[in-house]
Amino acid sequence: MKTEPQNTDTFRLRTWYGLNARVENGPQFWHRAGLGQFMIPHPPLINWLLRLGLPAKEKDRLGVTHEFGHLQTLPVYLLYTAILIGIFIGRDSMHFGGWILLFISTHAFWEILSELYVIYRLGPLYTLFYEDIPVLPRLVFWTAMSATMLSGWLLF
Ligand SMILES: [Zn+2]
Repeated sequence: MKTEPQNTDTFRLRTWYGLNARVENGPQFWHRAGLGQFMIPHPPLINWLLRLGLPAKEKDRLGVTHEFGHLQTLPVYLLYTAILIGIFIGRDSMHFGGWILLFISTHAFWEILSELYVIYRLGPLYTLFYEDIPVLPRLVFWTAMSATMLSGWLLF
């Protein structure tokens, strides 16, 4: 049986809080991102949506920056999540569905932070890359993520 080449590109970065972050592109569709030895494999679904229409090189550059965005903004995400959990635990009618919604809504917040990090890192290049690219996929991302993030607050 013929197998696909197992090409994996590895990118490293020292986070502002002093830990070594690593992002691995591939093999195939999969990504791995993490700190030190702790790596999380995941399908890059958000990146797939956000980078629709971009050439491969820009797609990879923005995708890897987005993954680093997750790692650079991890403390902010954890703080935000801890605050929401803190408020949530204070309520006595906490149900399982509520916890799921809390997790999904804080994750949406993290996706927003990571993409803002990409915009911050790329500066004017970000706009340039997307110059002739249809806006719809990005509109879907920002609308869906904002709505999902805010839905977490409906719990309170
Ligand atoms: Zn993401």
